[in-house]
Amino acid sequence: MEKTHLKAGIFGGTFNPVHIGHLALANYLCEYEDLDEVWFLVTPQNPFKKDIRLLDDRIRLEMVKTAIDGYPRFRASDFEFSLPRPSYTVDTLRNLSDTYPEREFILIIGADNWEKFSLWKSPEEILRKHRILVYPRSGYSLHIPDAMSKQVKAVQTPLLEISSTFIRKSIAEGKDIRYFVHPAVYRIILEKRLYQVNNE
Ligand code: ATP
Ligand code: MG
Repeated sequence: MEKTHLKAGIFGGTFNPVHIGHLALANYLCEYEDLDEVWFLVTPQNPFKKDIRLLDDRIRLEMVKTAIDGYPRFRASDFEFSLPRPSYTVDTLRNLSDTYPEREFILIIGADNWEKFSLWKSPEEILRKHRILVYPRSGYSLHIPDAMSKQVKAVQTPLLEISSTFIRKSIAEGKDIRYFVHPAVYRIILEKRLYQVNNE
């Protein structure tokens, strides 16, 4: 039997909460780039850097699960919850590849993160083992050196300038910004009374 070789994009974030900017970007990459699936990898709380603004890991994961329900190419992953923290991308990718040998993991990052990529832990190992898709962020130029053009691709995704920070702040101010998140996520936010206090 032929070996299945699925191309899985890895889209990491705190998703506090997941919003339509995240969802539209990942949706676009699934449909217009050569990806079979996109994994929303929820970053757990770093116990040494307790951030009061960051919601409980499980609630952030639940919101991602709820938002992606019904679209078969999306997957919500708590893979980093069981890794030593903080987990560096290179270590996460190594663990993912060991656990899911039938998949090729392709890193999805924004132009803002790409600017600092050379400062990450073991960037050369990441580049040796994985392809990277870099999407534009407003205010950041996007340059891929020729030597990396085989591994790294700039993708022209539409830009939606929405952030979770904006959503948390708006909810705390009592604004109804329901159309910035998936309706089911908005329901969870209301039901659990999330982000009522504005500490950004
Ligand atoms: P916060 O405002 O809390 O920083 P965020 O909206 O940036 O939240 P993250 O969970 O930090 O959300 O985002 C996960 C990843 O998605 C990050 O790499 C981030 O750069 C990217 N991202 C965030 N917002 C957008 C957007 N509107 N369009 C495309 N990518 C985004
Ligand atoms: Mg952010």
